[in-house]
Amino acid sequence: MKLYKIFRRPPSFISVSTWIKKEDQTIKSGPDARLPIIVPILEMQYGTITEKLKMIGPLFDMFKSIMINMRKSAKSIIFNPKLGKRQITEEHLKELKNKANELGISTIGFTKVNANHIFKDFEILYDNAIILTMEMNKGLMAKGPGQENMNEIMRTYDGLGIAVNEIADFLREKGYNCHASPAFGGDINTVPAAQDAGLGFVGNNGILISPEYGPCMRLAAVFVDIENLPFPENNEHGWIADFCNSCNKCIKKCPAQAIYKTPHYNENGGRVYIDPVKCAEPFSRGCSLCVSSCVFTGGHYDKIKRGYEMKMSKVDEISTGTEEKG
Ligand code: SF4
Ligand code: SF4
Repeated sequence: MKLYKIFRRPPSFISVSTWIKKEDQTIKSGPDARLPIIVPILEMQYGTITEKLKMIGPLFDMFKSIMINMRKSAKSIIFNPKLGKRQITEEHLKELKNKANELGISTIGFTKVNANHIFKDFEILYDNAIILTMEMNKGLMAKGPGQENMNEIMRTYDGLGIAVNEIADFLREKGYNCHASPAFGGDINTVPAAQDAGLGFVGNNGILISPEYGPCMRLAAVFVDIENLPFPENNEHGWIADFCNSCNKCIKKCPAQAIYKTPHYNENGGRVYIDPVKCAEPFSRGCSLCVSSCVFTGGHYDKIKRGYEMKMSKVDEISTGTEEKG
């Protein structure tokens, strides 16, 4: 029996649906939404008990903090002003960015949430999103699978859980409605949402690749009904998709052959890059080779882009020359 297929929702004490009232007009998942996978449940089924205890034992306090903050994110919607302000002032937007910075947020973006990015059968209160990223230390991630990797992953899960709640508290104090969605146990697939917010582009490893931190980041969101957020008009990182197709290093490095060469579509039509069952066991041992081996973890975004553009211009020259020669 596949436990992770049965438990598709977080338990009620950490689920936002517990505090949503009948009169709240929520935004439901779209027809192509994908089911969430609750990683701890998957790990429970596929990792070994000894490995899990060894890996997770030292992280108990962080786990506790993550759970406390998940509950706070869900329950704190009851403190929304309801008739919240719909227009954010420049001053408040600046304060919001400063606050995020103080909380260890690396980059911040804004987007309208595509309903297909809300996990299937989940709901959110507002569909304008503030997307937050937190950098994972490249040096630690580059060390490869192990406790240090796992510590760093959990540090950012915890940090983002704290940050979304602090930001939600700040916005409510200023008179805005919000719904905090932490990195661990969030309500949407933040990777494509962050792409929509222009923060980077999804790589073949299924992770957002950003110019500042490559794939060494975790993501979270705060949903608001503020109408004048600075949404980007386009995403300048689309070239990454083409670059990935000629790279595939992460696919070769994955010890479980868990990364699909071309993304699959799940039973609901949602795009999936990784087989979660194949990934579960190595991940429970701290594997994150798809992050550490990525060209963007070791290299600099601008340099990689320049190399890609030069390669493409040579390809263009060759094909033009071939055409001219007939
Ligand atoms: S975490 Fe490891 S096993 Fe999972 S997809 Fe990444 S490289 Fe593969
Ligand atoms: S290793 Fe290569 S293919 Fe994989 S995500 Fe990074 S750039 Fe893309």
